[in-house]
Amino acid sequence: MTPLDIEGITKSFGTTQVLHGVDLHAPEGELTAILGPSGCGKTTLLRLIAGFDEPDAGTISIGSTMVAGPRGVVPPQRRRVGYVPQEGALFPHVNAAANITFGLPLRQRRGRHRVEELLELVGLAPEVGKRFPHQLSGGQQQRVALARALAPSPSLVLLDEPFSSLDAGLRNQTRRAVARALRESGSTAVLVTHDQDEALSMATQVAVMRGGRLVQVDSPEGIYTRPHDVAVGRFVGDAIALRAKIVSGVAECPLGRIPVAGDVPDHPARDILIRPVQVKLHSANSANAVRAEVIEVAYYGHDADVRLRLTDSDHVVHALTPGHDVPAVRSIVYAAVDGEALVFPSE
Ligand code: ATP
Repeated sequence: MTPLDIEGITKSFGTTQVLHGVDLHAPEGELTAILGPSGCGKTTLLRLIAGFDEPDAGTISIGSTMVAGPRGVVPPQRRRVGYVPQEGALFPHVNAAANITFGLPLRQRRGRHRVEELLELVGLAPEVGKRFPHQLSGGQQQRVALARALAPSPSLVLLDEPFSSLDAGLRNQTRRAVARALRESGSTAVLVTHDQDEALSMATQVAVMRGGRLVQVDSPEGIYTRPHDVAVGRFVGDAIALRAKIVSGVAECPLGRIPVAGDVPDHPARDILIRPVQVKLHSANSANAVRAEVIEVAYYGHDADVRLRLTDSDHVVHALTPGHDVPAVRSIVYAAVDGEALVFPSE
């Protein structure tokens, strides 16, 4: 088991700087997710770790070996890194077993036992080894790709949005199988994703990236409950940002009077964050609830995302309500916030 250490990595393409001094420690045997919107530099960073590209400055170490730095770079094939791309990783003309053993030395390729072990590790039956990629579902293909990446017992496994081509049901199932296989193999892994659910559910550490910088590296719970700033709160958990006056630990804002988390000094006007799941809807007025009109409903079955226009302030906010109790579009409801609002000391 080997940790990954990245210090001060910068990278430009032509005159465009894509990475601006990235520092990251990925603990050994754990899965770190790099989470950020499209174009923020996630794949660029992953490619530098794999050795497909060279950084302009900074160092990358896998265990005690510096693989990129002032003394030059170690080529990808000597980094002991397994790489699982988005899709299309498998060779179409050979079966799954041959795909899995492809990167192994000749004498190890014949070991049927090893192939079966790897198939089992990624949650696939032994007979799957005989099938060709076109005879496998997308989720099975991605698990075979992971088995291939794990076959040479790499120091580090890198996964670049490996589930983005799968449909929702298969995606969840494959995420769980892959997270379990990585845990059981004891691999240090780095997963790149723009999907907050994927990052929070699979990783033990989440690094949020924005504009080529890591803005927060924390546990999934830390990212969700203590976002570094308003933008992280909005990106992870869809928080609603509102201006509020803070008086004696209470935020006075368009959604009523809401207690704030932590010890926050009085302030005439600052941003607070509220999660849609905290916004409770009632059909009759009650203490500290505000009147609103339902302007749109997205029904998901287990819950529904309800967009509301607040009558007094004209603000548009949204609430996540249980699927069995969804108000009709254009109906009048009363919204009240349950729990504490988040406020950022640095802002
Ligand atoms: P996505 O989730 O869409 O894949 P990303 O966060 O992985 O996005 P990157 O692929 O790392 O983002 O790209 C970051 C920026 O660098 C983009 O603006 C992209 O156009 C640019 N870029 C990436 N690779 C190159 C390249 N080889 N040459 C020039 N520009 C590049």
